[in-house]
Amino acid sequence: MHPEGEAMSNTRVALVTGGTRGIGLGIAKRLASKGFNLMITGRRSHDEAELALAQLREQFSDGSLNVQYCQADVADASHRERLLADVEATFGRLDILVNNAGIAPTIRADILEASEESFDELISTNLKGPYFLTQAAANWMIRLQEQSKEHRCIINVGSVSATVASVNRGDYCITKAGIAMATMLWASRLTQYGIGVYEVRPGLIETDMTKGVRNKYDNLIEGDLLLEKRWGTPDDIGIAVAMLASGDLPYSPGAVLTIDGGLTLRRL
Ligand code: NDP
Repeated sequence: MHPEGEAMSNTRVALVTGGTRGIGLGIAKRLASKGFNLMITGRRSHDEAELALAQLREQFSDGSLNVQYCQADVADASHRERLLADVEATFGRLDILVNNAGIAPTIRADILEASEESFDELISTNLKGPYFLTQAAANWMIRLQEQSKEHRCIINVGSVSATVASVNRGDYCITKAGIAMATMLWASRLTQYGIGVYEVRPGLIETDMTKGVRNKYDNLIEGDLLLEKRWGTPDDIGIAVAMLASGDLPYSPGAVLTIDGGLTLRRL
């Protein structure tokens, strides 16, 4: 444990769940360039996470970035507890929590057929995990705010699926609609402590998660699905998260930043 009473390091610390690849890695890179120290997580072993750690450290060949990895399944309560204990022991502080880790259903099944098992797995990982990680992190952040007031915040990576119905992955849509409400609930509860709570809501982002549907969406993007005719990148989302983490969006509890190339902009 970080010794009680020891002065807090001046460098701000961000915890990014699922920071080993895809959107999470894009977020971690942008936060590192803003000067944050980082804890990233995933389910893979430490050895398997080395590639991501090396990419992040490469940005700072002078060694100024302290980035660590914790193997932790966000769906598991004991892992969440160990994760925050690890952040405390390593850095002694937490300024930004990015709830990014998430999964899509293994099989895209019509809601007339989809299994309860898939529903439970998605709820645990995409909704219950981040909800209770937020609860534990928020209690710690409130104590930290009492010691020294800083811009602290919690950023949920939601999805346009919170409002766009896809009947072949109803479980996923429900988790993201839940995250939208979680953002409102935690913003309502934490703003009084000076802790910001926001949602970043991506559209179609080119990552492992969307590999299996690349051709389908390539064709739709060629058509008129989007206003900006390209896949989104992890960096597009990283830029939005880094802006929120830096405190550059004042007076906006519960703000939702939709980064979707115009996918959800209604048009006639
Ligand atoms: P990827 O599948 O590319 O990466 C997922 C990341 O989450 C990995 O780092 C993975 O680590 C981690 N992860 C998965 N499950 C767990 C778990 N139970 N505990 C801890 N870490 C876990 O996904 P994306 O980068 O595409 O997605 C990131 C977030 O963005 C998700 O919440 C997703 O719903 C959301 N999103 C994605 C969109 C897209 O088009 N890609 C669009 C809208 C939202 P490991 O492999 O080590 O388990």
